[in-house]
Parts: sequence; structure tokens; C-alpha cells
Amino acid sequence: MKRNKLLEELSSQKDYDIVIIGGGATGLGVAVDAASRGYRTILIEQHDFSKGTSSRSTKLVHGGVRYLAQGDVRLVVEALRERGRMRRNAPHLVKDMRFIIGNYKWWERSFYTIGLTCYDVLAGKMGLGRSLPMTSKSVIKEIPGLKKEKLKGGVVYHDGQFDDSRLAISLVQTAFDNGGTCINYMKATGLIKNAKGKVAGVDAVDALTGTEYRINAKSVINATGVFVDELMGLDAPEGEKKVRPSQGVHLVVNKEFLGGKSAIMIPKTDDGRVLFGVPWHDKVVLGTTDTPLNHAELEPRALEEEVDFILDQAGKYLAKQPKRSDVLSVFAGLRPLAAPTKNDGQKTKEISRSHKLYKSKSGLITITGGKWTTYREMAEEVVNEAIKTNGLPAKECVTADMRIHGYAKDVDESKWDYVYGSDIEKINKLIKKEGKYDALLHPDYTFKEAHVVWAVREEMAQTVEDVLARRVRALFIDARAAIEMAPRVAAILAEELNKTEEWKEQQIQEFNEIAKGYFVS
Ligand SMILES: Cc1cc2nc3c(=O)[nH]c(=O)nc-3n(C[C@H](O)[C@H](O)[C@H](O)COP(=O)(O)OP(=O)(O)OC[C@H]3O[C@@H](n4cnc5c(N)ncnc54)[C@H](O)[C@@H]3O)c2cc1C
Repeated sequence: MKRNKLLEELSSQKDYDIVIIGGGATGLGVAVDAASRGYRTILIEQHDFSKGTSSRSTKLVHGGVRYLAQGDVRLVVEALRERGRMRRNAPHLVKDMRFIIGNYKWWERSFYTIGLTCYDVLAGKMGLGRSLPMTSKSVIKEIPGLKKEKLKGGVVYHDGQFDDSRLAISLVQTAFDNGGTCINYMKATGLIKNAKGKVAGVDAVDALTGTEYRINAKSVINATGVFVDELMGLDAPEGEKKVRPSQGVHLVVNKEFLGGKSAIMIPKTDDGRVLFGVPWHDKVVLGTTDTPLNHAELEPRALEEEVDFILDQAGKYLAKQPKRSDVLSVFAGLRPLAAPTKNDGQKTKEISRSHKLYKSKSGLITITGGKWTTYREMAEEVVNEAIKTNGLPAKECVTADMRIHGYAKDVDESKWDYVYGSDIEKINKLIKKEGKYDALLHPDYTFKEAHVVWAVREEMAQTVEDVLARRVRALFIDARAAIEMAPRVAAILAEELNKTEEWKEQQIQEFNEIAKGYFVS
């Protein structure tokens, strides 16, 4: 995973079986699937891996209790099966979490117990644990931060919880372990077509140097999330828009707001959505919202009203009302919802959270929508389609039981083996061997200098933001603390990547600018 070496390879390697555009959950899943079937595979990402929506999720590996309530049983069954597989294949990153629904009306306890028992039945052998009714006393014991007034009891159910961008990095490593290649900061700028008008590769530019590359491939996959229309526009400029972004915001606050290790699920907010409060890296993530936008951005920013909405809704259920000053970090992500078509008039199309696969006349395959939870199954479908549409030799998918890089069982959540899995031994060896890098990046957090060195040497991190946002998650956990860590991170990066003092200062400045978007004032 040495980027410079990969660029050399890219210049000499002329033909691939499959090139994937987009290094989020969807594209990385396709890269792992294709590489592990034995296809010559390359993935290019215009920024860093999981820079887009895939680092900005609610961090749930779930069937979707809400979709069950909406009667979308097929989607729930598919997601529950994949939830079980993710937990089994990446136990170092996906854990079982107890979710509590507090009940404030007499009928709610039986209603939710019955509904969630159906959820368990649909999960079958892949279930994580049984849903059960709870007394109000046991609810408060498990979530001391919940409002006691009028609480009549509760129901507990189980779902998975994970670290999204860390899983993305593990998928990059898994693709490499299987002979594939993934390169960050490589933007697709054009589609190569043969004499018959069929796509035959991608023109790309290295965003760090401006060098241009031509990547020939039998199959081209557009997995660019909310940006799929831009790529489809390169193929057929007159085509209808497929996606309309909808923004979802999360707030991160201190863990005392819940006070336990379990999560809460609020089934109906004032706008009819569900709201989660999920323990994550010793903090609590509260969210989310659903705000339609007219255009997609790589670094979306939370709207004031979205922040106020989450604080207001959480305050209705928590004993202590969270305030703006309690927010340690705020992050926004974009869902690629189906755009209204000509036939719909101006109405927003029925919001389907299921994924969509489009085959263009040119042979370009586009995939968008879906969930992190279903990334593996979506990837299987895409590669099967590439076999049919682009004439790749047929090979069976092998990812259903395939272990993800770093696989380690029974990891200690309070230690770093929770996210690094088996790689933590190598990180500890690095500290021993070099006799340095054991220092903390910040007195309040357990991130070490060694994690930065590891991120550069083994995880293709190129910038301060890559490290603090997606390798050690500091920006998402506590934006102010992340700013304080930036100078040391920049110094290590400059040393590792052989960069100048000027580069270092610019990195700190650029990071501070981005981090401002994660503050609530
Ligand atoms: C608020 C929110 C909460 C969510 N919570 C959950 C959850 O708890 N559990 C769950 O299972 N799912 C959740 N999801 C859904 C899940 O996060 C998404 O389905 C998933 O991350 C989408 O991944 P993707 O790869 O399709 O898109 P992205 O992650 O956006 O990746 C697309 C990538 O393509 C790259 N790209 C674009 N153009 C180019 C180009 N020209 N060249 C190269 N690269 C390019 C972008 O930089 C980007 O990194 C949530 C979604 C949102 C918005």
C-alpha cells in the first residue's frame, strides 16, 4: 500500500479486468469482491478512502427497524443477513449493541416487543440476541441518562455497531491482500470508449501531482455515491439525473448524556423519523436528520436548524438537555436518494433506501444507494452484472465467509485492538523497534503517535485530515482536540513523507479550515 509504488505500477500496467470509480463502502466492497474472485482489479478514489458518505454514517450495522415498520420486509431480511456476516467476518470492527426503546404510553411495550420479536425471527440464525420487554427500573439502570418522568418501561433489541471509516480502510487492505489495487487522490476525469462506443477504461488525474493516467479495463464501475450523475454525464451528457442528495447530520456529545454502554432508539421524532443515541469511542453519537439538497458536496456542512432539531428532540428524552456548547463535533453526510423523474412532476420520488443498479448502453455499470450494512451483497450483484454485461470470465463470489483484514475475535473495546484487530500487534512492535512514537497525541485521548506513523506507512494516509478524520477519528469525536493534535500529526507526516516545513504549515492550516465545519458555536 505504498502510493508511490502503486503509481509506478499504474504507469506500466496497461490492462485491468475491472476499474472501480469511488472509494466508499460500495466501491471498496466491489474491489474486494472482484479481487478475491481473481480479476485484475483497480479502484480509484478522488480524495481519501471513505471521504464521502461512508465516514459519516450513524455507525450502525442494522436490518433497519424503521423499514420493518414501513413493511419493507425484503430489505430488512437482506440487511439482517448481511449484518450477521459483517459481525462474523469483521469482529474487530463490528460489535453487538443493546438498543433500548423507552416506553411512555401504556401500549408501547407490547407493541414494540411484538415488532422487535418479528425482527429477531427475520434474523433467524444470524440474530445477535433476543428482544425483550423491560421494567422502567431496569431501563434507568441501563441508561441512567434517560428521563424518568412518565417512563412506563422499555424494550431492548440488538443490532450491530461499527467504525465506518476504519472498516473502509480494512476493506482497502483486504482488496490488497487479495491482489487488488486501490489508490486514493486519483480522480476519474473521463471514460475511454472503443470504436463500438463501449466503455473500455477511465482517464484519471492524480489530485496530488496533476499527473494524468489512462486505465484500460474490460469493465468500468461507477460507485461514486451522490456523484454518480457526474460520471454518467461523462458517458451520456443528455441522461436524466438519478440522484438527489439528502443530508443527515450527527452530533457527538459526552457519554454521560446516556450514562451507560447501551444505545437508545427514539422511534418517532417530531418529523416522523427515528433518532439514535449511540455510544461510540467513549462518546455518544446523536442523529440524524433528513434535509433534501439541490447539489452534492464532498464536505457538506450541518445547517443550524439541523443541530437545533437534534438537540431539541434528544432533550425530550434525556434527563439533561444537551446544549450547543455540549457538542464536541458535528458531521454531515449525504444520502443518494432517487431523483424525481419527468413522470413524477416536481414531487420527490418515494424514498427508497434500497440500492439501485443501472446499466448504460455503453456498458458502464452504476450502483448507488443502499446501506453500509449491505455493501457486500451489493458488491456481489455488481460483479455478477459485470460478468454478464462486460464479458468477464464467470467466477463465483467468495466474500460471504471471507475474513476482513485485521480479523480478530474477542477484542477489548477499551483498547486499540477494537479497531486495528490483529494489526495492533504490528503497531506495538513498531513502537518497540523504533523506541519512540509511544507518546499520546493529546492528553485527553489515547491516540498515539504510532497510529499516525502506521496510517502513513500502512494505510495510505496522505494528509493531516486523512489521519485525524478517517484513521483515528479524532475530528469526528472532538473537533477542538483534533485541532490541537494537528501540529504533531503534521510534523510526523512531513518526516515520513519527506515534505518541507512549508508543506507542514499548509497542512495545519487546511486542516483547521475543514475542522471549523465540525464545530457548533
Ligand atoms: C446520515 C447517514 C447515516 C447513515 N447511517 C448508516 C448506518 O448507520 N448504517 C448503514 O448501514 N448505512 C448508513 N448510511 C448509509 C451508508 O453510509 C451509505 O449507503 C454508504 O456509505 C454509501 O457509500 P458509497 O460508497 O455508495 O458512497 P460514498 O461513501 O459517498 O463514496 C463515493 C466516493 O466516490 C468518490 N468519487 C466521486 N467522484 C469521483 C471521481 N470522479 N473519481 C474518483 N472518485 C470519485 C467520492 O469522493 C466518494 O468517496 C447512512 C447514510 C447517511 C447519509
